Amino acid sequence: MSSKRGGGNGARLAVIGAGIGGAAVAALMQRIGYEVTVYEQYERFAPAGGGIHLSPNLMRVLRYLNVHRHVLLKGQEPSAFLNRDAVSGETLYTLALGERAHRQFGSPFVAVRRGELHIALMSAVAPGAVRWGKRLAGLDSRGDAIVLTFEDGSRAQADAVIAADGLRSKVRGALRGSERPVFSGQVAFRGSYPRDALGAMAIDDLTKWWDTDQFVLSYWLDRARRDFYFAAMMPQSDWPGEASSVPADLDEMRFAFRHFHPDVRRMLATAPQAGVSKWALFERPPHFEFGGSRVVLIGDACHPMRPFMSQGAAMALEDAAMLTRALLGAGAFEPAFVAFSQARRERLARVHRVSAANTFMRGQTDPEWVFGYDALTADASSTLPALKTMPAWALAA
Ligand SMILES: Cc1cc2nc3c(=O)[nH]c(=O)nc-3n(C[C@H](O)[C@H](O)[C@H](O)COP(=O)(O)OP(=O)(O)OC[C@H]3O[C@@H](n4cnc5c(N)ncnc54)[C@H](O)[C@@H]3O)c2cc1C
Repeated sequence: MSSKRGGGNGARLAVIGAGIGGAAVAALMQRIGYEVTVYEQYERFAPAGGGIHLSPNLMRVLRYLNVHRHVLLKGQEPSAFLNRDAVSGETLYTLALGERAHRQFGSPFVAVRRGELHIALMSAVAPGAVRWGKRLAGLDSRGDAIVLTFEDGSRAQADAVIAADGLRSKVRGALRGSERPVFSGQVAFRGSYPRDALGAMAIDDLTKWWDTDQFVLSYWLDRARRDFYFAAMMPQSDWPGEASSVPADLDEMRFAFRHFHPDVRRMLATAPQAGVSKWALFERPPHFEFGGSRVVLIGDACHPMRPFMSQGAAMALEDAAMLTRALLGAGAFEPAFVAFSQARRERLARVHRVSAANTFMRGQTDPEWVFGYDALTADASSTLPALKTMPAWALAA
């Protein structure tokens, strides 16, 4: 492939997975002129998941795609991120957000249901680009074209593949063998329920309650502050079985957090069985792979991390933006994938490391390096042109 304007010139780009990173990268690549086909294992679009933080660095990419209004409308902009001692309730550190986030980071901080983020991103993908019900079974990159095989027996060809197929990436397995994600030794009880259940109890917009090796995040999922969400994390020695989540044993959860502040105990005591599940947290060391120089991994396929900085989706969107810039600049897959990995390696390693340490915002913290980062312009050089404005020819397309 070559390109004078950075567009695809008819190159066939396959994205595996229509999740958070897959939708973002498909939408961005379409905007710079690539013919993109997304292959997704699910039969239809079914937005799912619990609560998620959309930090200013993530919101910048949504804004570029012009789909930020959806999450601003559906989610809440917390006035502050409170960090409190889990037992005494003492405030350890407060990060002012709301209008302050706009001023300090140039972009808002939003808390919302993950499904709403997914809806926003999918709305940016051109209709017809997603092939639903296509579960990738294998990939052969030895010939001129990469051959994709699916579990329904069908095949497809592509000139390059972006693997956005998440934690248990089949593409990663095809390139590196079937190494499994590693159970981090941490589990999370995650639940949401309507505020009515909490009675008159006052609840701040967003709080992280810190204990030594356990913590609870609590926040509202919507502007009206009607839907309440919590994630209660704690160590667990092992995780039997393959499932990522199981129905929660509420007695186990309440017992494990029985020493927490009365407000937290009440949040957990009120949670209905139907609203809570228990999740295993998996991770892997970040890994950049270039299968035959035409396959690249992004998001959780590349660098699944512990969610303690709430940056997994943000990193997937930053990847998508940076990869788009790399292709725009290099105009060919191999140098673009090399430039992409060079541009991402250090930042991803740092976020991965700080997430694992679970220290971010426990005390006085300057979050500028995370929230102030602009994947659309950072490290701009001749090989990584900034995505400041949509190219005119992309708008006209
Ligand atoms: C408890 C918890 C809380 C979190 N909170 C936050 C937060 O507050 N903020 C944040 O930024 N991140 C958060 N994250 C992380 C975030 O959800 C993920 O990092 C993000 O969804 C990764 O995006 P992705 O596109 O890489 O993978 P996914 O969004 O998981 O998408 C992968 C897609 O690939 C598809 N797929 C898989 N295999 C195949 C196959 N063989 N063939 C075809 N399709 C396939 C899947 O069906 C899916 O649609 C949290 C994670 C956890 C566990």
